[in-house]
Amino acid sequence: MSKYKRRLIYLLLIQLVLTLVHVALREPQEVNEGAFTSPFHFWLALWFGVFVVLYAFSLRCQNTGCRKMQVFRGYSVFDLRWPEGKCYSCGTPISAVYKNGRPVEP
Ligand SMILES: [Zn+2]
Repeated sequence: MSKYKRRLIYLLLIQLVLTLVHVALREPQEVNEGAFTSPFHFWLALWFGVFVVLYAFSLRCQNTGCRKMQVFRGYSVFDLRWPEGKCYSCGTPISAVYKNGRPVEP
């Protein structure tokens, strides 16, 4: 399993825990109130979710001629895939470092 996939799984598990904490702590009458009166656990779960989505967006192929996103592979919600160690399109390792369009040996 690639480290990016493992990292994404951990982030999603933390998101699940934060969501469950919010569901467990919220008051029943909170549902009809505005979001700005929501307690900290609502904001924590929401912003952590935004962070996880942005992290998934940031997983791109490092090859400057490719730059394909590894998680969001199309415009549909059903085009989600786990990130692998190599780009699904060109095979470049995701951890490869590119500088000025050329691969740099680590
Ligand atoms: Zn690629």
